[in-house]
Amino acid sequence: MAYDPDNIFARILKGEIPCKKVHEDEYALAFEDIAPAAPVHVLVIPKGNYSSFNDFATQAPADQVKGFFASVQAVAAKLGLPEKGYRLITNHGADASQTVHHFHVHILGGRSLGGLVAHE
Ligand code: AMP
Repeated sequence: MAYDPDNIFARILKGEIPCKKVHEDEYALAFEDIAPAAPVHVLVIPKGNYSSFNDFATQAPADQVKGFFASVQAVAAKLGLPEKGYRLITNHGADASQTVHHFHVHILGGRSLGGLVAHE
């Protein structure tokens, strides 16, 4: 999917829409999800224009990929999650119900998260 520079996370990155910021560095911005699915639910987004994990993994330079995932780990550590555990989720495309087309990783924690996938 072509990247839409006016998607909601792009607008958060540009400062046009507010967010509850948790962390920011050279590679990533992390903020609280507006509809939390767990006591801790933070989104981490790269600073480049990538529409999904698939796009990021195939198009981003290696230093950005490494820097971004180091930022995800730093956010989890900042939130005190590594000791008890946490889950990372990233949705690519329709079958995964991706709704915002700027690559993002969900960090979920703060309670036992149960099984991997909800069955419908
Ligand atoms: P996904 O289904 O993986 O694309 O997830 C998109 C996530 O973005 C959902 O969990 C939404 O609750 C969250 N979201 C949408 N708009 C905002 C916003 N303005 N601030 C924070 N989180 C948002």
